[in-house]
Amino acid sequence: MTDQRVAIVTGASRGIGRAIAKRLAADGRHVVCVSRSQGPLDELAAEIQADGGAASAVACDISDFTAVAAMVEGVAKDHGRLDILVNNAGITKDNLILRMSDEEWDDVINTNLKSVFVACRSAARPMMRGKFGRICNIASTSGLVGNAGQANYAAAKSGLTGFTKSIARELGKKNITANCVAPGFIETDMTKDLPVAVTDHVKSVISTRELGQPEDIAAAVSYVTSDEAKFITGQTIAVDGGMTMC
Ligand code: NDP
Repeated sequence: MTDQRVAIVTGASRGIGRAIAKRLAADGRHVVCVSRSQGPLDELAAEIQADGGAASAVACDISDFTAVAAMVEGVAKDHGRLDILVNNAGITKDNLILRMSDEEWDDVINTNLKSVFVACRSAARPMMRGKFGRICNIASTSGLVGNAGQANYAAAKSGLTGFTKSIARELGKKNITANCVAPGFIETDMTKDLPVAVTDHVKSVISTRELGQPEDIAAAVSYVTSDEAKFITGQTIAVDGGMTMC
């Protein structure tokens, strides 16, 4: 068993997850980078190693619940420990409620919410064995205040906050914390195709008048997954340039 803390980061192939993986590696963790695409994960792991960090790449579709449980249990077995779980992978399938299909609802709930339940359930036992755990679920300001066209996404992200508070209450006495980080508008593939009018409106309601960067989210995740954040649990930290303030 290695002395180094082992962290799983889902959705690490690009965007926010990639920045989180790089940041946790810079924090000295062995980072297991997870998404469906092996190629970009291998490139990321090689980049982290070239910078002197420790990383490996595991392809897994988190909407396949058997696969996600096996992935988490496999990482814990291979490394003899699992300290940090960052559930970052997520999708959008936006539509107005009148037009939203059952499939659009189910896909987003399964990928963004149920997969997190399955991953946390599989992570809890090795974290309890190790008498340490840091779980960080990436929620969204859409889940805090709602967003027209995102009933499925907001329900999943809001669900994450209640889920996270509940497991924080269950696991706290085992030295395991669970928190959410809720990004506002962050410049990634997920937001790159928004019409300019939407982006301009968003900027006008952000106190700092700027869209966020993936590294802004990674910094918050770095803190809540650190050893020193032991007294912070069950919280949802909005990282949104002051857009919601709720
Ligand atoms: P991107 O679309 O840029 O990246 C999504 C990541 O999730 C990719 O690495 C993708 O990898 C992975 N992923 C998607 N589906 C699956 C799956 N079924 N199994 C495994 N991996 C999957 O998104 P962002 O980086 O922008 O978003 C990251 C998180 O932050 C999400 O949870 C999102 O909801 C949340 N968020 C983002 C905001 C933003 O403004 N960008 C705002 C609020 C919240 P691959 O395709 O290789 O599988």
